[in-house]
Amino acid sequence: MKYEAVIGLEVHAQLLTDSKAFCSCTTRFGAEPNSNTCPICQGMPGVLPVLNRKALEFTVRMALACNCKINEFSRFARKNYYYPDLPKNYQISQYELPVAEHGWAEIDAGEGPRRIGITRIHMEEDAGKLIHDDKKPLSYVDLNRTGIPLIEIVSEPEIRTPEEASAYLRALHSILVYLKICDGNMEEGSFRCDANVSIRHKGETRLGVKTELKNMNSFRNVQRGLYYEIERQTALLESGDRVLQETRLFDPSEGTTASMRSKEQAHDYRYFPDPDLLPLRVGPELVEKIRKELPELPVEKKERFIRDLGIPPYDAGVLTASRDMAEYFEKTVGLFQNPKSVSNWIMTELMRELKGDETGITNCPVSPHQLADLLKLVDNGTVSGKIAKTVFEQMYATGSNPIDIINEKGLLQVSDSEELAAIIGKVLDDNPGEVEKCLSGKTKLIGFFVGQVMKATRGKANPAVVNQILSDELAKRSKK
Ligand code: ADP
Ligand code: ZN
Ligand code: MG
Repeated sequence: MKYEAVIGLEVHAQLLTDSKAFCSCTTRFGAEPNSNTCPICQGMPGVLPVLNRKALEFTVRMALACNCKINEFSRFARKNYYYPDLPKNYQISQYELPVAEHGWAEIDAGEGPRRIGITRIHMEEDAGKLIHDDKKPLSYVDLNRTGIPLIEIVSEPEIRTPEEASAYLRALHSILVYLKICDGNMEEGSFRCDANVSIRHKGETRLGVKTELKNMNSFRNVQRGLYYEIERQTALLESGDRVLQETRLFDPSEGTTASMRSKEQAHDYRYFPDPDLLPLRVGPELVEKIRKELPELPVEKKERFIRDLGIPPYDAGVLTASRDMAEYFEKTVGLFQNPKSVSNWIMTELMRELKGDETGITNCPVSPHQLADLLKLVDNGTVSGKIAKTVFEQMYATGSNPIDIINEKGLLQVSDSEELAAIIGKVLDDNPGEVEKCLSGKTKLIGFFVGQVMKATRGKANPAVVNQILSDELAKRSKK
């Protein structure tokens, strides 16, 4: 490998405010097209925008969570371009003075924690949506999305691999959702990313010519698009060609990218300060107020789970990737004080039921209370660990309480020594040959006897008691 990749991401996140960025229209999704609009977001002449305070506070929240410096003064700028989804013919954005700069996010792409620099976080507004008629040569425009507040988070060109790009995106996603300022829905576009990538000879310090990839609406597609692009650029350089600076569109069905347009330059947009909006001042009082209200962030939570609860790093990462999952875990641990056991049950039994979709935890049919109850029943010997897994499946399928399932299905663990001794005696009597072999050294057969006892009790025998009685009984028989 003579080459290395250089990647920088531009992430847009829709903010979960009730109203739009510069007018009081609702941001509610799914309304009749163009019903959530007013003269301001329709771009009528003579109207004046007023900044949504909540949108600013959300931006500062994200900026602090990403370790950014908050600029006391920033400014809105007009980014001018023509497109039918943009009625004003300019987007209100920020240019030379963003709300925040110089931050970083911690990622772990499997090689230990690493920081990725964040160049800037700025505020802007979303555009409308075009809907194309597939029968007639006709397009419609829906301005409901026009003016919804966005933040753009721009990374330094410090990401080295598609895996790191995906880890970085997951880290930002997780922070935004923890902060409750973005719903993080990538498919619907409330969390979206453009990926810039170039390659260069290893050891080279200058940056190569980059391309910008668009239209990747999942973490996986961001990785796929980058893989394809790195290979394409490598092949170009290998054959003596050069990479053209351009914007390329990812095709999810083919896993390829195709040229969309030559890259526009900043000066093409004729940025200038928006004369309708005052310069923005974010004073230290506001910054401190917001800083105090920040919740525990994913990285901090992960570290605490490792340090205070003895959870392995990988498991701690999974448990804290979503705030809802972390809350589920902590609630359960509050009711059954064995974090490792709770973590194991979530990581295996619960994750199996969620089928890789951690968001399913929000409407999990098994409540933390019910899971804790089940673990207590295992702990006090009411039910065996093995049977408990079946009980859990039933709980997940029906939402019933563990004790009801255990009673109804007759799954109580048999720990009664007399009862088990009788069963064990019968198993040994029925298998004289195996007993003889076992006594003459083939001790592996103990597993066979335990299996027979389990079969006879339909898995309900208490394994510890069975093992104890079995070894006593075999000892007795060897003396005879
Ligand atoms: P542009 O003006 O083309 O939008 P920017 O300098 O604003 O470029 O950077 C946009 C994103 O691209 C940032 O995330 C930055 O880190 C990344 N980037 C800039 N140059 C390169 C490069 N040569 N290779 C890869 N990524 C780059
Ligand atoms: Zn409006
Ligand atoms: Mg740029």
